[in-house]
Amino acid sequence: MSSFFDQLRKMEKPPLLKKYFEPDATVETMPLEKLKAFQLEAAIMVITKAFRRSDFYRAKFMAGQVKPEDIRSLENISKLPFTTKDELREDPWITLACFKDDIALVHVATGTTGGKEIYVPWTWQDFYLNELTPALPYLVDVRPGDICLNALPYEMSSSGLAFHKVFMSGCQATVIPAGKAGAYSTPEKTVRVMQDLEPTIVITTPSYSMVLAEAATAIGLDLATLPLKRMWLTGEGCSFAFRERVEQIWGTKANFYYGSLEGGGLGVECDRHRGYHIPMSHVLVEIVDPNTDRVLEPGEIGEIVVTCLLRWDTPLIRYRTQDLGYIDPDICTCGVALPRLFLRGRRVDQVEIAGIEFSPFYLEEFLMRLPEVGNWYEFVVPPGADTLRIRVEPALGVEKSPDLAERLASQMEFSVGVPCEFELVERLRRPKSKTIRVVKE
Ligand SMILES: [Zn+2]
Repeated sequence: MSSFFDQLRKMEKPPLLKKYFEPDATVETMPLEKLKAFQLEAAIMVITKAFRRSDFYRAKFMAGQVKPEDIRSLENISKLPFTTKDELREDPWITLACFKDDIALVHVATGTTGGKEIYVPWTWQDFYLNELTPALPYLVDVRPGDICLNALPYEMSSSGLAFHKVFMSGCQATVIPAGKAGAYSTPEKTVRVMQDLEPTIVITTPSYSMVLAEAATAIGLDLATLPLKRMWLTGEGCSFAFRERVEQIWGTKANFYYGSLEGGGLGVECDRHRGYHIPMSHVLVEIVDPNTDRVLEPGEIGEIVVTCLLRWDTPLIRYRTQDLGYIDPDICTCGVALPRLFLRGRRVDQVEIAGIEFSPFYLEEFLMRLPEVGNWYEFVVPPGADTLRIRVEPALGVEKSPDLAERLASQMEFSVGVPCEFELVERLRRPKSKTIRVVKE
């Protein structure tokens, strides 16, 4: 058996990636037409391999009466059947289009949508070589010399390890694997590490950034004094108003990164904060009407459906993310031509009040604009609710009172147009894993 280093030497960038991404062609500066040509070639490769090597995909394609030869344009992708979360739950190895021995890594879903585990196996070639070949140096502006504090979970799921890979191996920066509330990772320890090592980049979730901020206050560390260039927020969505609070506390710009365990990186926000630029090198995104399965036009809100273009050994084809959003194809003011994705939350998280459906981020936006409201809250929306109940901690130094609750309720009601009720509490539970903002009790 050859050693790891012998194998490394033998690894070569596949011809398709060489053709489009060498020398130094970045995704951000490549003309869209060329990127689309890459997408089509990559998609056909993924689909052909899936058809030949995966019983699962072959059976699906046959049932849908479609063959790889039928895919001659990006629009033709819509002829292919969808892949669902439930299908991935059936068998951990269901997407394999390679030998099982070649699997180097298996990620496990965090299970916030319930049900059996979803496993995402990766080969070394896909995880490192393919995924790291196309770079986004403008959108992911991390360089050698940067110190990146990675406060995302490293265990089970993909987020911590995926950014670790991008920052350390892709951007050749220095990474501190701080983790998020794991066996050794406490907020207190993480902020002490920040005090000692002075990171220039921090990546974490919106809610955990607030947990860290509280821990920093407890040890007398003013986060705004850190030499931070930028923060990345990922793993959970949040409203612009919440993000502004994060930026103020941390004294730096905070950009969102949208990805999923199954689909990988799906959107990167630029400094203009005008949607998530879709890394077209990595993923083909479609927006689909969740009821009719029809592919929607730019601007129309529907379910985000993804096809991974660089995962060739464990393909993911037309995967229904159960997240809602829409695409804006207009060029962003930052100059990057990659179309932008706008998120509208997860399908299961949409809340219905008095027969009207709301995205929790929409509600949060108005809530976070109220200065008397603190950074921790829950929307309590049992089925059939006709009032939006909001359980909140008041902002630091603000006294709880029935008067305040009433005033906040009427301000919130004015903004969102449904009856609101405030319950002011001393302290809400701090999240250990993903924050639950919507309680459907
Ligand atoms: Zn932009």
